[in-house]
Amino acid sequence: MALAECDDVRRRREQALTACCLAVAAETDTGLEPARRATMLMDCLGVLRAAHPAGRAAQLGMREFRRGLRGGLAPLLPPGEADDRFGGLRLLDGDGLVRDALEDLCREHLVPQAALDRHWPWARVRAEQEERRLFEVMRRLEPEEYRKARALLAECPAGPLRVLRKRWDRLWMRFDFFEAVSDWPWCQLEGWWYPCPKCRWPMRVVAVGREVEVRCEAHRPRGVHYRMSQEQRGRGMAPILIGTGKASDPVVGLPASSDHLALNRPVWRYGVLPTLLEIELRDQLKGRAHVRVEMWPGELQPDEYDLKITVAVPGRSVRRWRVDAKDWASAAALAQALLERESKPYTLYIVVPDHQAHEVAYLKQRLAGRRTKVLTLTRIVDQVKQAAGGRDE
Ligand SMILES: [Zn+2]
Repeated sequence: MALAECDDVRRRREQALTACCLAVAAETDTGLEPARRATMLMDCLGVLRAAHPAGRAAQLGMREFRRGLRGGLAPLLPPGEADDRFGGLRLLDGDGLVRDALEDLCREHLVPQAALDRHWPWARVRAEQEERRLFEVMRRLEPEEYRKARALLAECPAGPLRVLRKRWDRLWMRFDFFEAVSDWPWCQLEGWWYPCPKCRWPMRVVAVGREVEVRCEAHRPRGVHYRMSQEQRGRGMAPILIGTGKASDPVVGLPASSDHLALNRPVWRYGVLPTLLEIELRDQLKGRAHVRVEMWPGELQPDEYDLKITVAVPGRSVRRWRVDAKDWASAAALAQALLERESKPYTLYIVVPDHQAHEVAYLKQRLAGRRTKVLTLTRIVDQVKQAAGGRDE
């Protein structure tokens, strides 16, 4: 297939995926009035139809559309050879609940559409643009400030305004990425919100049958999930959460008031999560003989690396890993973003969380022939340890 044709197929399929993601968001939003939901779904269907060749579009009615949203997406997508794996995607989980990362998935493949913008103001901004905006701000910082900002992303992504202001200090005015938790209904439980014990960002509150589950969207696979206790509690007290996962450390509710803020979702996803991954990598290699880890050297382009690992064993040649951590919802979108980068004069190691191990083979295949390697956190730690001789100091 010619390149232009290929791009057209990709764009059409991304347009269809955008429409499906937003339709699912509307379908599952219990706070929506039925009339408004119906308008949103009609607009989504209109966008979906526009993504199809004329003959096929006519066959897509509202019933087929809604049915399609509940199954694999393949029947709803415009045909064409595309290495995007959208056909197998499911937007709803086994309980019929919307997938946690739906908004990220949509943002990563977003094709902005005027018809949809009026319902979802955020549906104007692609994930990559937001990631870039964050790194534009970061890049203008002095190296010392840059390191401070990276550390704060990991340590202080949400909380009471006065605490955030104090911690972010001189960086506060330059980081206009905070939003009020009171504007986010998805993380509120009877007027309270709960920071994840791993990333400190608000956890999602979901009704599953008759129970209420509270979980971190990013760290749920690592065992960060809770259920709300039915126990009586005192007046003005936050509901008590009972840990149900292996990493469910005790958490306390905070008031979801307008003076409690959190970094916006894209900054959490593309700034906080990779930073945590880098810190984890550094910590796992701490104290290893012959291993040196340099973090956040600053003065970098947004698509440079953020971590340099050097293994220098006497009598052997020096080995280096230039690492960039990534935590995207869609492996297909990540592959595309990496392919659009200019190639570097060195091999870049893209590190993804362990729970994305099943995506590594796909990413490798998409990036074949590039000086980019993809591996999980555990895998790179093993590689470095092995190169260093496998001994702790
Ligand atoms: Zn978390």
